[in-house]
Amino acid sequence: MNNKMRCAEQMQQELQHFRCPLCGEAFTLVNEQRSLRCPNTHTFDIAKQGYVNLLTKAVHTHYDKQLFEARQRIIVGHKFFNPLVKSIVNAIDEQMGSDKVQQSTILDLGCGEGSHLAAICDALSQQTSKQITGCGIDLAKPGIQLAAKHYPNQIWFVGDLARPPYQKHSFQFLLNILSPSNYDAFDSLLEYGGSVIKVIPGEHYLQELRHAFYSTSRATYSNVETLRLFKEHYPESEMHHLHYTVELDKAGLSDLLYMTPLTWNIPESTRQTFLNQETAIITCDLLLLIGRRSNKS
Ligand SMILES: [Zn+2]
Repeated sequence: MNNKMRCAEQMQQELQHFRCPLCGEAFTLVNEQRSLRCPNTHTFDIAKQGYVNLLTKAVHTHYDKQLFEARQRIIVGHKFFNPLVKSIVNAIDEQMGSDKVQQSTILDLGCGEGSHLAAICDALSQQTSKQITGCGIDLAKPGIQLAAKHYPNQIWFVGDLARPPYQKHSFQFLLNILSPSNYDAFDSLLEYGGSVIKVIPGEHYLQELRHAFYSTSRATYSNVETLRLFKEHYPESEMHHLHYTVELDKAGLSDLLYMTPLTWNIPESTRQTFLNQETAIITCDLLLLIGRRSNKS
């Protein structure tokens, strides 16, 4: 089965979660399972790679194909975020608890090239023996194209969180990993009693890059404001701190520089000096925030 057919099959199973981003009506699969269409005839075709682009006009982001390929190598090849994936899987497993439901759908808002979501769904399916489906959405088409190519078992949309193409209150778990928050979307998409799991950098995240490339003002990172906003929205939130280091070789360091906006405006000679190292120890410092939407009263 090719990716496009598989995508149509997955869409069919999960249609109850989706809605038209233009008018909010439910979608059906039409045109021999090749398109999503709402009653107002807004129609979106399934691309041959196995995703659906729901944007009505192209959006330019600074994130290109090379960046997402570098990011995928950092996640999958260099296993840089493995401890993070494990923590998220355990957090979701714990929240599911003795939940008798045999199926769950997890939505990743700002999924990039999809490696985190795919790894989380795979590990969670194994750990819980439940059927776990992932839905990922991102504004950057090059990321979603890679995601669809590598992870055909999940459902991928190019779309804008300002008009989320999902039914209200239809997800038990939302992920938002190193990606901007959209509290309106969190509130509208999360089930009552569901959880949003947000990952933000800790102050020592990639500190070796900050020290190499910045003198003072950006040499440390402050998450104070992001944290404050999250706690304001989810006063009962839980927080886990993850701090570990990974040794990266030359190729890994090059991938890391490529995927990190921190280093985009650095002079080439400075980048080159950093890349002359054979290996380097890089710090991964992250906060895992878990916010629960209260049960409807
Ligand atoms: Zn519509």
